[in-house]
Amino acid sequence: MSRGNRFGLARNIPAPTKRAVRQACGFGCVICGNPFIQYHHADLAFANAVEHDPRKITLLCGGCHDRVSRGTYSDEKVREHIAKPYCLTNGPAFTDLDFGSVAPNVRFAGTDIEDCVFPIRVEDYGLIMLEKPTDPNSPVQISAFFTNTRGEVSVAISQNNVLLMPQNWDATAEGTRLRIWDASRQPSLSLNLVPRQSIEIERIESTLLGWKFSGDAHSLRVTTPGAKGPNTFAGGRMSGPHVGFQFGAPRLR
Ligand SMILES: [Zn+2]
Repeated sequence: MSRGNRFGLARNIPAPTKRAVRQACGFGCVICGNPFIQYHHADLAFANAVEHDPRKITLLCGGCHDRVSRGTYSDEKVREHIAKPYCLTNGPAFTDLDFGSVAPNVRFAGTDIEDCVFPIRVEDYGLIMLEKPTDPNSPVQISAFFTNTRGEVSVAISQNNVLLMPQNWDATAEGTRLRIWDASRQPSLSLNLVPRQSIEIERIESTLLGWKFSGDAHSLRVTTPGAKGPNTFAGGRMSGPHVGFQFGAPRLR
């Protein structure tokens, strides 16, 4: 247990304060946009801080935090980026994936989907697409997008480049997990991206083209456009198909 600094300030920053900092910074390092972040007391070093004021805390990735601590990034540069965070001026928080040349399994709705190009498709939209590399030394190309309950894109993956959209209410990246929050308590999307193994959709609350999806790794409730109640899917295994789950008929031929 941390004893805090000489003013009795605990090292642990309260969760609502951390969220306010993430929201103010657009969910990524203020200098480079990396979503794997640490909290940095910007005005005063933690040793001299008397409170966890979200306006005086900022987000830095491990690499940028190290440079700031060692002084290889000037105070002016840091101040400039705190005033204009990367994710609010240059583009969404981003990171990249390299799962090697073997396509990962996808776990969704209690189902393991193996060796599949489009594990999940809604009408013509591939929620996830896994393209085998033409060069055996290149990684499998992972593309995906997920929408929140309002139908807005929350996470987009374009050929291994992951973007966490700044319009989200909250977004976190920790370990192998990306989570999107539309409100506190429970994430609306939880993706566990385990390199060289699997993409697990641990939780989803989403609307797309009038379809509503609600579920976790074990089961999924799906409401088709215009229908009153949901159908529930649970359990199964799919191997080798071009398309795993297809919701609705593709419109384009
Ligand atoms: Zn950074």
